[in-house]
Amino acid sequence: MASNPHVLVIANPLQGHLNPVLQFAKRLAFKGLMVTLVATSTISKSLITENGLVKIVSISDGSEDLPKQPLDNDTKEPLDGSQVESNQPSKEVHGSAEDKEKERWARFQPAVSQGLIELIERHKDSCNPFRVLIYDSMMPWCLDIAHQQSLKGASFFTQSCIVSLLYFQTYAGTLQLPTNGSVVSVPQLSVPLQLHDLPSFIYDTGSNPAILKYISDQFSNFKEADWLLFNTFDKLENEVVNWMAEQWSIKTIGPAIPSMYTDKRVTGDKDYDLNLFTADQDTCKNWLDTKTKGSVVYVSFGSIANLKEEQMTELAFGLSNSNIAFLWIIRASEEAKLPVNFMSEALKNRCLIVNWCSQLQVLSHEAVGCFMSHCGWNSTLEALSLGVPVVAMPQWTDQTTNAKFIVDVWKMGVRVKVNEKEIATREHIEACLKEVMEGEKRNELKINALKFKEFAKAAMDEGGSSDNNISKFISSI
Ligand code: UDP
Repeated sequence: MASNPHVLVIANPLQGHLNPVLQFAKRLAFKGLMVTLVATSTISKSLITENGLVKIVSISDGSEDLPKQPLDNDTKEPLDGSQVESNQPSKEVHGSAEDKEKERWARFQPAVSQGLIELIERHKDSCNPFRVLIYDSMMPWCLDIAHQQSLKGASFFTQSCIVSLLYFQTYAGTLQLPTNGSVVSVPQLSVPLQLHDLPSFIYDTGSNPAILKYISDQFSNFKEADWLLFNTFDKLENEVVNWMAEQWSIKTIGPAIPSMYTDKRVTGDKDYDLNLFTADQDTCKNWLDTKTKGSVVYVSFGSIANLKEEQMTELAFGLSNSNIAFLWIIRASEEAKLPVNFMSEALKNRCLIVNWCSQLQVLSHEAVGCFMSHCGWNSTLEALSLGVPVVAMPQWTDQTTNAKFIVDVWKMGVRVKVNEKEIATREHIEACLKEVMEGEKRNELKINALKFKEFAKAAMDEGGSSDNNISKFISSI
């Protein structure tokens, strides 16, 4: 009897990339494929749980002898007791944190390429060798490896379709940046975009040219990929999805979040299983249980964003002055920026601050009335899929564009304005929190958020747009 096709999935070792890639891998396994996920050594050192549906293997990304990443606060060894072989010469790296990050990324591609090739070759003589490599679109060189090894390649985009399109136009040199307050004309979009609605690396070209190149290189060979998979769903980005589908063979497969929060068909799929941080799960749940329905603001800026100290102070006092209860995630690396005189006795009863939580568990708790978010794409999808209105406080990268859509397209949130120093003041933060939690708009925002919750569920449920696309992807393998 022929075995089910075996696919190899490789994730980028960043929390916001890992989560959707692993969720998609679980979906494929649920639908009958045999799935192996490659967790590179940065991830596998922090593996908190193994996942039953998907086999997880480790390869080196060259980071073994580097100091821990600033965002990595977990030192756990792989639970399966596996050892990760380093194929890089051991070398002390001296210099600043920035130098070490550069070294980490310089080692990444050569080490992962070698590990991936060895893994694929080792499996060639097995009873079920890999047929397809699904790779994060930010690692376009994986496609070359797949094709050289006679595998097909599927590029998995962890950002929205509109953001992908804007990066594609940047790569192709066809994006006309607006001048003097005019708007960007994206013909496939009825909502005009102003300069600051574009991803920050596009409008602020001088700030990070290397990152802009890294990101837009996703499109360097995407036309040669056998499939283009997007973590979004049709009803969310109708216009752009339709336009892109006319040009390229794209498949929307999202929202790639645990099934328990959408269609509930994948038994046991309750949470993301690869965590680079340790969640304070019980503390958050127990605290939220003491709060009344819809009374708490959940505040998180994701796994990477670093707020300026001044911004942290304004945020702390904006939250405190609002008189609304809040649960605030401050990663260990950000804690020192909290103002010293901020925590009063009275405030202690009204807030909880932890380093990390299970965000889905928090967002789905009935005590949570709104999400103050940096608008990372996963957080945005999670807010939409769980029907939680947003106070958008984008920091950089695609978050600015996601915030624009939250406010003006999906109409399920408000955006905090920034002053000429790019700081959101405490007064404005307080006003936005009150607008979403207590203001006239409250009902309308909630109704719109709940509408998208239904759409997200329908997309993933049997016969829904994303479900159909996943089935078509599987039958085409
Ligand atoms: N997340 C979490 N616990 C937290 C904060 C974030 O589990 O305390 C998860 C969140 O659910 C999301 C991911 O981390 O899936 C962050 O991805 P996102 O794209 O929102 O932001 P990034 O970290 O990439 O900036």
